[in-house]
Amino acid sequence: MTTIGNNLQGVRDGITTACAAAGRPANAVSLLAVSKTFGADAVRKAHAAGQTAFGENYIQEALEKMAALRDLPLEWHCIGPVQSNKSRLVAENFAWLHTVSSQRLAQRLSDQRPAELAPLQVCVQVNIDGGATKAGVAPAEALALCQQIAALPRLQLRGLMTIPEPHDDLAEQLAVHQLSRALFDALAQANDGEPGWEAFDTLSMGMTADMATAIAAGSTMVRVGSAIFGGRPPIR
Ligand SMILES: *Cc1c(COP(=O)(O)O)cnc(C)c1O
Repeated sequence: MTTIGNNLQGVRDGITTACAAAGRPANAVSLLAVSKTFGADAVRKAHAAGQTAFGENYIQEALEKMAALRDLPLEWHCIGPVQSNKSRLVAENFAWLHTVSSQRLAQRLSDQRPAELAPLQVCVQVNIDGGATKAGVAPAEALALCQQIAALPRLQLRGLMTIPEPHDDLAEQLAVHQLSRALFDALAQANDGEPGWEAFDTLSMGMTADMATAIAAGSTMVRVGSAIFGGRPPIR
């Protein structure tokens, strides 16, 4: 098996272990392989090892990989910030977008999503801890944005996405992830049965360094890059 194949298996084992520890079924958490900065050959190896969902941050880089991998049935997720002049490329080329944080962007994406494609699957990014990156809506604003997305014809509201500030301390990681899960549960309960909320089932939370605590707190999708593909240069 390739190193990437071995790494993938290690991450899958980690997900299984974390789910068991949390008393959750192993299939409660899906794995998004974050391939940013790695080439099409690396994605191909991960696909050969059974991975089909891939996350990318940079639109141009992602489009190049998509073109090189047209022969494979891959599901592409955009997990990076989207400037409004890039929204059409996202609407036309990705299956998912995890970082919606404004009504204006949501409206543009719905307008631009081609009719022949399934609705764009979207998560609202929430700045759960007020972190310095400032990306995402404040927790108190998440409901309004979700409601607007639920009413847009070419978007499918799937859930929330968070990127907390890094903490080495596991208890601190867990506490922040629990806040995200509590918000996710509150929104799901308050809107149960509302039109457009049928597929609100995704809490995109946890990366290489905080995957286990994210799963303990109730993540349903972890976004893992370096544990699968190796380390990246710190600045691109
Ligand atoms: C890069 C990135 C990841 C993956 O990070 P790793 O630490 O390599 O697992 C996950 N989510 C987002 C939004 C990212 O930008």
